Amino acid sequence: MNVTPPTAKISSVALKHNVQVIKQKAPNSKVIAVVKANAYGHGIEFVSSALDHLVDCFGVARLSEALSLRSKGIIKPILLLEGFFSAKDLPIIAVNNIQTVIHNQEQLDELKKAKLPNKIKVWLKIDTGMHRLGVELDQVEDFYQQLVNCPNVAEIGFVSHFSRADELMCDYTELQLERFLQVTQGKLGERSISASSGILFWPQAHLEWIRPGIIMYGISPNNTPAEIYGLTPVMTLTSSLIATRNHKKGEPVGYGGIWVSEKDTKIGVVAIGYGDGYPRDMPEGTPVYINGRKVPIVGRVSMDMLTVDLGTDSHDKVGDEVILWGKELPIEEIAAISGILSYELITKLTPRVLTEYID
Ligand SMILES: *Cc1c(COP(=O)(O)O)cnc(C)c1O
Repeated sequence: MNVTPPTAKISSVALKHNVQVIKQKAPNSKVIAVVKANAYGHGIEFVSSALDHLVDCFGVARLSEALSLRSKGIIKPILLLEGFFSAKDLPIIAVNNIQTVIHNQEQLDELKKAKLPNKIKVWLKIDTGMHRLGVELDQVEDFYQQLVNCPNVAEIGFVSHFSRADELMCDYTELQLERFLQVTQGKLGERSISASSGILFWPQAHLEWIRPGIIMYGISPNNTPAEIYGLTPVMTLTSSLIATRNHKKGEPVGYGGIWVSEKDTKIGVVAIGYGDGYPRDMPEGTPVYINGRKVPIVGRVSMDMLTVDLGTDSHDKVGDEVILWGKELPIEEIAAISGILSYELITKLTPRVLTEYID
């Protein structure tokens, strides 16, 4: 008997392929590769090393993420997408060649006050309609002038973020882009507004810098399988069968007895559960892939295991590989069935899941 525990298999070939596809889609834009949240669960060290010579900058959400890249020897610029959180971060940012977003007056005041060993590049975040972060359109001129006059600033860029770019028939994206172009017109500085959906669906919004996240990992920003866009999933989440059992018609399976078999069948027990980050909310009937076919989850997902209906005539054995998502079973399909966003599925995985870097 040889059973492999839950493992995220990560392909650097797929990762590099996806970045090439993205660059072909936006040939005139430089690339900020977004590797926040442990590179969307794919391993920040591995992903950033694999991409170091392919991209122009890395995007993260926390200073700790930026510093972990530096400690792994990454020397490309790094952008703090939400800016810095406190004044004491600024000298660390300056000496580590980190760039920061500025999205409010509090940050700008700290930047003006700071005594830094060198100037830093900052990106002024403009709220064009997301209404989450950013300075309002009528404040842009004022903020821009304050930055121009700030001795700590080496260079100024402009960033904004779409709220509905995954909706192809929605003209809100065009409105946001129009506002962004208009308010930055005549100001010296590079511009960036497109994350994955902007890159795929709104080529007029590519501008000088794009910020791909989810599509680098071969996952679509909506529930359309990413293969349609020429992308390949980077992660295959696998586990194994740890038991197969004969199961009688009319008998329940698992906590709460919520599923009762309508026929005699075989139940497979798979070693993965919500303790690994596979959501407990995954509905009954969600497929897993085993020995060349899809079989449905039955009963409730528990902490370390889940159960599947292998079917009466199945020949699956203990130790057989089970794929939860990957090339054979697109994560977009799992997202659509469960109502849990792909973004959330991949970032939820816990450290108990092993990571294996293939090819
Ligand atoms: C996370 C993030 C991105 C990447 O978004 P995707 O939809 O994964 O491409 C880009 N820009 C900002 C500001 C972000 O926070």
